[in-house]
Amino acid sequence: MYNTNINEISRWFTKNKRQMPWRDTKDPYKIWLSETMLQQTQVKTVIPYYKKWVSNYPTILDVASAEENSLLKAWEGLGYYRRCRNFHKASIIVTDSYNGRIPDNYDTFKSLPGVGDYTASAVMSIVFGLPYSVLDANVWRVMCRYLGIKNITVNNKNRIRTQLNHWIKQSKNPGDFNQAMMEIGSQACSIKKPKCNNCPINQSCKAFQFGEPEAYPKPVKKKGIPTYDVSVGIIWDKDKFFIQKREKQNHLGGLWELPGGKRKVNEKLEKTLQREINEECGVKVKVGDRAGFVKHQYSHFKIKLTAFHCSLKNGSTMPATKSSNWIIPGDVDLYPFPKATLKIFDQALT
Ligand code: SF4
Repeated sequence: MYNTNINEISRWFTKNKRQMPWRDTKDPYKIWLSETMLQQTQVKTVIPYYKKWVSNYPTILDVASAEENSLLKAWEGLGYYRRCRNFHKASIIVTDSYNGRIPDNYDTFKSLPGVGDYTASAVMSIVFGLPYSVLDANVWRVMCRYLGIKNITVNNKNRIRTQLNHWIKQSKNPGDFNQAMMEIGSQACSIKKPKCNNCPINQSCKAFQFGEPEAYPKPVKKKGIPTYDVSVGIIWDKDKFFIQKREKQNHLGGLWELPGGKRKVNEKLEKTLQREINEECGVKVKVGDRAGFVKHQYSHFKIKLTAFHCSLKNGSTMPATKSSNWIIPGDVDLYPFPKATLKIFDQALT
């Protein structure tokens, strides 16, 4: 039964695999990059970022010697910026400690910043042909259905791992096996309306046999996420406005932003802005016209972001520092900004 499934999976993958730019290479740097970009992000979103990145930074040495600011700019809009900062840090370690060669040992590779089980297994199997199975959200769903698992328990997780490890050890090509399982999850075993008739493991899939594949696994109730009202200022001094860099340890760390912050209960947005700018920058501002409004969702919260044109009150000054600057609108392209701020720029600076 096991071998039959593996052969079926392999045949199905040959026939159904989608073209992706990282599927033409075994370059460990490029596979690692693609797997890092693909975390929590859809393939179609990643493709243009991946192509541009590889053209700007063809080798790991190019990444190691780049400025973090430039890398974040290339990552701008892809989200989860910690991935980019960690990839940069890890590239420097690979260059300095491993002569620029990406380790071909699971534990050594996994010790690098930002490399977890998933990335280590993907790179080790795809590049070096080692039998480490990946378990991302797609594979998890396929396996829950295949084994007829409804609830997430430690025992059920072990059953999934055991089954995957069993398969991958018997597979001739562990990298293709992992990619095939992810592809089945994305093309056949979708959350809604799985296409069981085009699935290579339907003959032994429990959820299919039970006639209700969508019931496996039981959906986890998502907690509601909070929404914050945020007020930011475009503080003008002649033709320049003020931007500041977010601290590395914070959400969106390393990106640049407009100063401002969260509204307190019953506070007017203009008041929020004056209070926040005074607290953050130690200056007083005059708040002028509304410059833009956007709604944006992050993984754990949503924001309603309102921007105002502002100017410094008489006597207030804000000199540029290493983590702040006065720029003209044409300089926006030189700095990495969060997506919501870019949307504000689209409304306010055109
Ligand atoms: S047979 Fe259907 S439910 Fe089972 S793994 Fe395949 S697509 Fe998913």
